[in-house]
Amino acid sequence: MTRTALILGDQVSRENPALEGADRAVLITSRALLRRPGLHRQRAHLVLSGMRHLAADLREGGRIEVEERTEDGLLEGLDAIDGDVVCAYPSSAAMLEALHERGVELTPPTQFLTSPEAFARWAEGRKTLQMEPFYREQRRRLEVLVDDAGEPVGGTWNLDHDNRRPPPKGGLDAPDPWSPEEDDVDAGVRRDLDRSGIDFWGDDAPRAFAVTPDEASSALRSFVQGRLKEFGPWQDAMVDGERTLFHSLLSVPINLGVLPPLDAVRAAERAYLRDDAPLQSVEGFVRQIIGWREYVWGMYWLRAGQWPRRNALRAREPLPRAYREADSGWRCLDETVRSVRETGYAHHIERLMVLGTIGLTSGVRPWDLVRWFSRGFVDGAEWVMAPNAAGMALYADGGEMMSKPYAAGGNYVNKMSQHCPSCRFDPKRRTGEDACPLTALYWDFLDRHREDLAGNHRIAMPLRSLAKIPDDELEEIRVRARRARKELRGTAG
Ligand SMILES: Cc1cc2nc3c(=O)[nH]c(=O)nc-3n(C[C@H](O)[C@H](O)[C@H](O)COP(=O)(O)OP(=O)(O)OC[C@H]3O[C@@H](n4cnc5c(N)ncnc54)[C@H](O)[C@@H]3O)c2cc1C
Repeated sequence: MTRTALILGDQVSRENPALEGADRAVLITSRALLRRPGLHRQRAHLVLSGMRHLAADLREGGRIEVEERTEDGLLEGLDAIDGDVVCAYPSSAAMLEALHERGVELTPPTQFLTSPEAFARWAEGRKTLQMEPFYREQRRRLEVLVDDAGEPVGGTWNLDHDNRRPPPKGGLDAPDPWSPEEDDVDAGVRRDLDRSGIDFWGDDAPRAFAVTPDEASSALRSFVQGRLKEFGPWQDAMVDGERTLFHSLLSVPINLGVLPPLDAVRAAERAYLRDDAPLQSVEGFVRQIIGWREYVWGMYWLRAGQWPRRNALRAREPLPRAYREADSGWRCLDETVRSVRETGYAHHIERLMVLGTIGLTSGVRPWDLVRWFSRGFVDGAEWVMAPNAAGMALYADGGEMMSKPYAAGGNYVNKMSQHCPSCRFDPKRRTGEDACPLTALYWDFLDRHREDLAGNHRIAMPLRSLAKIPDDELEEIRVRARRARKELRGTAG
């Protein structure tokens, strides 16, 4: 009987274990997936480019018959395959169910180092599920930055305190990130997307992320040589005109399966051992990959099926219009949304402390924001967005992942970015015409959730400050926060 390897769009590695022993590979482009409202044009390009590059590579290698199909939906395409089908473990709960229903054999994926089952074993019986103890176990298990006794090199596991530097007044000058050269495959993808008639969100632009193993190696090398050294200290900084700063831009190739996560980690570790990069930067980078990324993957599966309903803070606002149109008049938000529209990318702190925090304090429904993030970003996917946007940013899990909500006002953005001096609002003011909407929303958020947060000692100090605000001022804050929500919706008039 024929054995077919089904290659999903985010599994485009040559090393995909489903290919082993298969007679042919099938890659299906789903029109339904491309037509999801709000899908970024560059995200669509990257996925199609990755699939077509792999198909070309396999054909050239001649080791397997390759079939590329376009179908209305992926499952229709799957149903048309005769014989045994084998596929690497998928990255969404809905796809896993569909593959199980059809009796598809599953192999481990190459994009992750921890299986959902191993993560569930780690989580079992724990009082809290926060990331830090998981990360330390990963360091020991994978022997990354540990000595022979399994203790952290440099004597400490966590160097975050060295890594939260605000940008210097004169800004920061980072080397340009690596970028690929487009080829005939990309030209074909662009032509097909132009002709598809789909109204994508987000601009088209030359491809800026790696989609093949060779490109991913070049991107990794360029990051380690040129930007890793400064990655740690400036990880949280937001600088005008420097959207990438010292970030790696590796989430796309890692998520597509063309860069094994451990390769990225080992390359950074070697740079530390050669004295080419300081521990604070290397530890910071390693933490993102074997810590946060693996933890988020584990948390997605641990709560699979629950994420769409999680809404511990009872948020009711729909996705604000400003998240598509960049027309709130708030500089930090509009600039970030504009950048996402232009490039499909924003770095972690822009995602968490601008887009996420405003969603949290204004009360946006978690699943609305998850959907916006997972379609609007070059690296978006449900497995990564549900825990990051709903769990980490919006506290929809009631604090399972985070010990306190990531709520902040304009002062945080003022400290960590260059937005505020050229914004018409004053980050220090929470009432009045020029009050910063983020600051008003922050105090309004604490006010609305006093009872939800009362038992949380990490938020006790802000709650004490809230209690000292006179009633008439609190009423003015509520008025400003209501107007802020209207500005987000585009109905402020
Ligand atoms: C609200 C929100 C939404 C996010 N959405 C996505 C997403 O759709 N896809 C995605 O891959 N990441 C997402 N992240 C995580 C992280 O912000 C991105 O991985 C990172 O910004 C990608 O840019 P980079 O490759 O330059 O990362 P770097 O800053 O260079 O970090 C290195 C790598 O670490 C990994 N990483 C770091 N933090 C996380 C994390 N919290 N979760 C998963 N991986 C992490 C990524 O693979 C990343 O490439 C999100 C975070 C938040 C708070």
